[in-house]
Amino acid sequence: MEKLQNFVNGEYINSSSNQYIDNYEPATGKVYSLIPDSNAADVEEAVKAAEAAFPIWSNMSKEERGDILMKVSTGIEKYMDEFVAAESKDNGKPLKLAGHVDIPRAVSNFKFFATAIQHYASESHYMEGVGVNYTVRKPLGIVGCISPWNLPLYLFSWKIAPALAAGNCVIAKPSEITPYTAFLLGKVLKEAGMPAGVLNILHGYGHTVGDAMVRHPKIKAISFTGGTKTGQTIASIAAPMFKKLSLELGGKNPNIIFADCDFDEMLSTTVRSSFANQGQICLCGSRIFVERSIYDKFKTAFVEKVKNSKVSNPTDPKAHLGALVSKPHMEKVLSYVELAKEEGGTVLCGGERVMLEGEYKDGYYVAPTVIEGLDYNCRTNQEEIFGPVVTLTPFDTEEEALMMANSTQYGLSATIWTSNLKRAHRVADEVQAGIVWINAWLVRDLRTPFGGVKSSGVGREGGWEALRFFTEPKNIFIKQ
Ligand code: NAD
Repeated sequence: MEKLQNFVNGEYINSSSNQYIDNYEPATGKVYSLIPDSNAADVEEAVKAAEAAFPIWSNMSKEERGDILMKVSTGIEKYMDEFVAAESKDNGKPLKLAGHVDIPRAVSNFKFFATAIQHYASESHYMEGVGVNYTVRKPLGIVGCISPWNLPLYLFSWKIAPALAAGNCVIAKPSEITPYTAFLLGKVLKEAGMPAGVLNILHGYGHTVGDAMVRHPKIKAISFTGGTKTGQTIASIAAPMFKKLSLELGGKNPNIIFADCDFDEMLSTTVRSSFANQGQICLCGSRIFVERSIYDKFKTAFVEKVKNSKVSNPTDPKAHLGALVSKPHMEKVLSYVELAKEEGGTVLCGGERVMLEGEYKDGYYVAPTVIEGLDYNCRTNQEEIFGPVVTLTPFDTEEEALMMANSTQYGLSATIWTSNLKRAHRVADEVQAGIVWINAWLVRDLRTPFGGVKSSGVGREGGWEALRFFTEPKNIFIKQ
């Protein structure tokens, strides 16, 4: 069986542990490769390599760094089919989705920050008759990037690209559940001429190698995307060490639908915002609030469309939904359906595992699920499920919709559907979220701040926000 390796100091190497973790293919439920169970000693080796590389990388001109990052971008493009197939196999997502979203977006992330850094200027503040302040922004040194399994290379590169562009050396850990495309990136880095030690990729569990990264005193910042509980653990270790922290955490996003919206556009987008990537996107709208006057019309049309969504193996070009990422995750999602029933909910469609045939019979497939009749305050409506499960709740007034939308501990994104411009602005202003879409969903501009409020995180990624995070400002005053 194929054994994946770490990528340290410009080379593929084994973990010093010599232990391996099973890597499952969610579509079949079978182990198909092994990944290194890395440990603190591997982090130490990566830190040494990064330390040696830092003077080389940070002293390169922005143009030279940008050129190399651009080559990484085109390198992923060159191996597009291989990356797409690997992402789909590793994660269970439809091949089509990996080919349209995940891998093209990883290409864009490198391209975007390769060029963004060329335009990144520091500030100066003139004090009339007194002098001038100028602010220098230097790379932090060695930084740690830790990413989740739902959009593996997409989110991995979303952190790594700005960190590298800003002149840092990076130790990065993809999720142990979806390691494959991060593993493939090593060969692209080699071909792009990335100097050895600049980007080191370690595989393994969060509580071992991830924890060792968070604790390492020479790793100056942690950029983390994942669950809120993990974010809390990381913050409790890194904050007392005064590390810079960027935490992109969970969500329970509201989708607020007013009667005056463009119904057809709202309907097709809401199917996507509910179930894209099997509902495993942190930005999916899992709580759908519908103005009472169109509630029944919406419910009927929505459930009909959802029932027509095809759950199939990821290579099926007609698949709308593929497999969930793992058996424990599938079990967690299904346990929430049971909880919803206990809490008085009615399952309008889905709610069960889908058993495919042949080689896919043991895959982790769940039918897209729509539930109604729940209190906005119940656990099903308050806790992150992160799967193909949405709830429908009617509302009578704007105030009521906002009260329910804002009732969770989370505040990542929100979607609002209305043709009333004043109301759109008002609700967008009041809804507690870091990202709001009005009459749209998941339209991304890489220049905009990305992140959440409340338990959805601390800090923002994207554009200048990311470059500011990965640099340390120093203000220098000079007397006139
Ligand atoms: P997770 O928190 O279990 O794991 C995320 C990463 O952290 C993995 O690489 C894991 O190995 C590592 N990790 C786990 N414990 C660690 C520790 N103690 N120290 C260091 N690293 C550790 O999350 P997941 O299950 O992979 O991803 C799903 C979660 O991610 C969901 O909650 C989802 O909402 C969230 N998410 C958020 C965003 C966002 O932008 N806000 C984007 C995608 C996913």
